[in-house]
Amino acid sequence: MVKNLQEMRKRVCAANKSLPKHGLVKFTWGNVSEVCRELGRIVIKPSGVDYDLLTPENMVVTDLDGHVVEGDLNPSSDLPTHVRLYKAWEEVGGIVHTHSTEAVGWAQAGRDIPFYGTTHADYFYGPVPCARSLTKEEVDGAYEQETGSVILEEFSKRGLDPMAVPGIVVRNHGPFTWGKTPEQAVYHSVVLEEVAKMNRLTEQINPRVEPAPKYIMDKHYLRKHGPNAYYGQKGDVH
Ligand SMILES: [Zn+2]
Repeated sequence: MVKNLQEMRKRVCAANKSLPKHGLVKFTWGNVSEVCRELGRIVIKPSGVDYDLLTPENMVVTDLDGHVVEGDLNPSSDLPTHVRLYKAWEEVGGIVHTHSTEAVGWAQAGRDIPFYGTTHADYFYGPVPCARSLTKEEVDGAYEQETGSVILEEFSKRGLDPMAVPGIVVRNHGPFTWGKTPEQAVYHSVVLEEVAKMNRLTEQINPRVEPAPKYIMDKHYLRKHGPNAYYGQKGDVH
């Protein structure tokens, strides 16, 4: 379905502005984008601009390779990561990257975010993976694009479906989430941050805690997302 570019600008602007409201970013440490493959366009936050100053008009519009086609400002420096993921994952319509504190904690610790309870399973069907650190060559090369490649490498190595596990933490860096829409990608970012916090508390209270049973994961994930999903209202995007 071909999207309306002006509507995309509005959605991406609103989604970016929602990041500080959800407590996910400080300063300008985060960005949201949306793609329309039929239109051949990506809309993303301009680099380093305060969230208060964002308007639909100052969003940056690029082609599917990340070349700017509309806008005077530079796009977010993370754009090549978004481009890499959009090219590989056809079902993804929106991507979010932040340095939210709790998720960064797991990224810096180099750990997957384990499945300990139903909040997690409502949105992530399995542990949230921690991707490897980038090598020196990758950091010295096309850094942001390589970050996307490392995420794809992790998903393919583990045989994961990006729509069933809509997020990752990249080691020594932080979280990336995605969804069918930018709003859904933001929603997943909020859930990931909360789950990261809940899990930290869980391990503090019981350092020997084990992952929750798979049948609980199945029940909670599949009642919302399975072929016989019955949670919520028909057409709910979350
Ligand atoms: Zn970052």
